[in-house]
Amino acid sequence: MVNVMEAPEGVTAQEHGAARIVVDEPRCIGAGQCVMVAPDLFDQRDEDGIAVVLRDEPRSDELPAAREAAALCPAAAIRLVRGSGA
Ligand code: SF4
Repeated sequence: MVNVMEAPEGVTAQEHGAARIVVDEPRCIGAGQCVMVAPDLFDQRDEDGIAVVLRDEPRSDELPAAREAAALCPAAAIRLVRGSGA
């Protein structure tokens, strides 16, 4: 019995279609919170510490970490975009 809405920890959301991670690079201050909470999804460039997205379409079990990264980013540089396309 899966009720698809905003999925709690560890449950779906992928049934909605893809959620895509977008990092606004000019905003990123290289704080590294995203890498700490979601090391499978984010890394930082060696030269300037700016975040890079390793996998922009997180799996359903990675969505909680992706959301946490977005919530913790001190620069509000991470967005999760719903749906395919834009
Ligand atoms: S948490 Fe935000 S500011 Fe820090 S590296 Fe990640 S995207 Fe950049």
